[in-house]
Amino acid sequence: MEKFPFKFAFFQNKFVETKTAKISIMTNALQYGTAVFGGIRGYYNKKKGAIFLFRIEDHYKRLLNSLKILGVSLNYSLEKLKEITIELVKRNKPKTDIYLRPFAYAGSLQLSPNLARDKIFDFFIYMIPLAEYLSVDKGLRVMVSSWLRIPDTAIPARGKIAGAYINSALAKKEATDRGFDEAIFLTQDGHVCEGSGENLFIVRDNTLITPPASEEILEGITRNTVINLAKDLKLKVVERKIDKSELYLAQEAFFTGTAVQIAWIKEIDGRIIGNGKRGKITQKLQELFFEIVRGNNKKYSPKWCTKVKI
Ligand code: PMP
Repeated sequence: MEKFPFKFAFFQNKFVETKTAKISIMTNALQYGTAVFGGIRGYYNKKKGAIFLFRIEDHYKRLLNSLKILGVSLNYSLEKLKEITIELVKRNKPKTDIYLRPFAYAGSLQLSPNLARDKIFDFFIYMIPLAEYLSVDKGLRVMVSSWLRIPDTAIPARGKIAGAYINSALAKKEATDRGFDEAIFLTQDGHVCEGSGENLFIVRDNTLITPPASEEILEGITRNTVINLAKDLKLKVVERKIDKSELYLAQEAFFTGTAVQIAWIKEIDGRIIGNGKRGKITQKLQELFFEIVRGNNKKYSPKWCTKVKI
């Protein structure tokens, strides 16, 4: 990837050239991870001459909630954040699928992580082209991590908090070093949690099962999308605790997330999931999802996608 694939970013309250958007080495967020972030996908639809931003409002609601958990705030409203994002896409005129990274951070140059002092965060957003993050077609090989998920009583996984991603980095490193595509976290009490950057679903007896919000997960927007779609498709969806051994007995398993989209899992800890092929339920959800996000579904696209003419 080119170093700065898109010319513009929004930084320090204005649109600037991405290559000039730099922070000081003394920045508090760089030292301590005192920041929260988002990840929003934009899908390019050539025929419609537009980028479709997926559930942008929900992404910004979560960003503001992450700030609320930290007890800090931003000088931008939800409306203003949406406006900046749409304007950024228009200025950069992408002809490809994109990923936007909004980032709210302690921009103070003072020592020590002190959110009482640094209570107004700074904000920037930039974008990159992004096709697949992990393959949605090949079937992923994953392992249960030896690293446990951070508990809500230490660092709330419900907030998308930059510093918390050390937990994900450790799990991802372990999985990658051992030749796997991705890791699955267990919680402190040994229940199935989520991937390093994605939520997890399994299928047993034609029922979709996913850990509930109280299981140290990020409350994923793709997870919520899949739950809604599945219910509309009259599939049974249950949010409940999952034991590790249930993973091995699942008929289907897949990850959901903005970057990962919906990616099916072929193997967990060396056990083949189902018959080792993409399951019917996963395939149905994938097909519907990709139609919706690209702006091609009459029922859901208008509700969930923001069209930006390019
Ligand atoms: N869990 C974690 C830890 C994540 O980083 C992500 C990616 N944002 C997700 C789940 C999926 O969330 P979403 O569907 O909102 O992208």
